[in-house]
Amino acid sequence: MKIPLTRLDRGYEKFKEEYNTIALKILESGSYVMGSHLKIFEDKFASFIGANHCIGVNSGLDALKLSLRALDINAGDEVIVPANTFIASVIAITENGGIPVFVEPDVYYNMDTDLLNESITERTKAILVVHLYGQGANMSKISKIAEAHDLWLIEDCAQSHGAKVDDIMTGSWGDLGCFSFYPTKGLGAFGDGGAIVCEDMTLYKKLKKIRNYGSEKKYFYDLVGLNSRLDELQAGLLTVKLSHIETLIQERRYFAESYLKGIKNQLVKLPKQRPGCESVWHLFVVEVEDRNAFQSHLDFWGIKTGIHYPIPPHLTKAYAYLGYDKGDFPITERLADRIISLPLYDGMTLSELDYVIQVINEYKES
Ligand SMILES: *Cc1c(COP(=O)(O)O)cnc(C)c1O
Repeated sequence: MKIPLTRLDRGYEKFKEEYNTIALKILESGSYVMGSHLKIFEDKFASFIGANHCIGVNSGLDALKLSLRALDINAGDEVIVPANTFIASVIAITENGGIPVFVEPDVYYNMDTDLLNESITERTKAILVVHLYGQGANMSKISKIAEAHDLWLIEDCAQSHGAKVDDIMTGSWGDLGCFSFYPTKGLGAFGDGGAIVCEDMTLYKKLKKIRNYGSEKKYFYDLVGLNSRLDELQAGLLTVKLSHIETLIQERRYFAESYLKGIKNQLVKLPKQRPGCESVWHLFVVEVEDRNAFQSHLDFWGIKTGIHYPIPPHLTKAYAYLGYDKGDFPITERLADRIISLPLYDGMTLSELDYVIQVINEYKES
C-alpha cells in the first residue's frame, strides 16, 4: 500500500458537488475580489470562532504580519514567540522590525509558561502564542501573564481551527487571532488564504484598511497599506468547507484516537494531551530516538512521513544574524531531531490507518 503524508484530492472529493457548484457560480458572477462571498465567509468564520469581527487576508503569514503592524509593533520591540514554531510566526515579527524572543516548549509542544515569565523585559510589547499541531496552548495562564504585564496577545491559529482550551475557541483568547487557509491546514482553501479575528472595532477597521492599500473608501488613503485580500473563489470554497468543519474535526479526532490506541511500540513516543485542550490534530507527531531508521522503515513499506520542523528558526541561515548558536534552546533542538509526523488527511480510509499502525508496530531497533 502507498500512503502519502497528506493528499488533498480526498478532501476535495468529500464535498465535490458543493465545491463545483459554488466555484461555477462565482466564476459566472463576474465579481472576483472583495465581493459578497468574502463578507459571507468573514461573518460565518467570526461566529464559528466566537469573535465579533473577521478580516480575510492573503495568507497566514499576512494575518500575523498585518496583526503586529496594526498593534504598532515597531523596530526594537520584543515579541515573545515559541522557539519550536513554523518560520512564518517569526517572519511576522522581524518584518515589522520587532525582535523575536524565543521560549522553549512544555511537554505538549507549546509555550512553557514558566519560561515565558522569565522572558519578559521592559521592551516586551507582545506575546505571539502558537497552538502547535492543533492543540491549544496553556491560554488561561498565558492570558493572565499578558494582562499582568500589559502586553498584546496574538494567537497563531494556523494549525488550530476549531480547537478549544477550557471550552473557549483558540483565536478568541487574545487581542487578535490569526488563521491560515493554506490547503493542508484544518480549514484549507484551494490556494492561499488567511484571516484575522478580533473583538475590537478600532483594530477591525484598521486591519480592513491595511489589507486594502490603506483605504476604506476607494482612492482615499488613510495609511500606507498593502494588498492582502482573500479572493471570492477562496472565500466561497471556504464557506462550503466551514459548513462541514465539525464533521472534518470529528474524523481527524477518530484517526488520532486510532493511532493513540493502536500504536504499541516502546520505541515510539505518542503525543500527550493537556487536560482541558481539545486538539483538532492538524498533525499527529510522535518522537523516535533513531528517526532516520524509523522513517526509512516506513518509507520501505510505502508510507511517507514529514518533519515539522527539522530546523528551529533560531538555527536557520535566514536568522543567523540574530546570533544564536546550537545549544541555546536545547529542548527545541532535541525535539527537532526526534519528531516525525504520521499520515493524516481528510478522507483517509480505515485500511490505510490500520496499515500505518501495523507497520509502526513492526518497527524494531536495528
Ligand atoms: C502554515 C503556518 C503559518 C503560515 O501560513 P501561510 O498561510 O502558509 O502563510 C504560520 N504559522 C504556523 C504555525 C503555520 O503552521
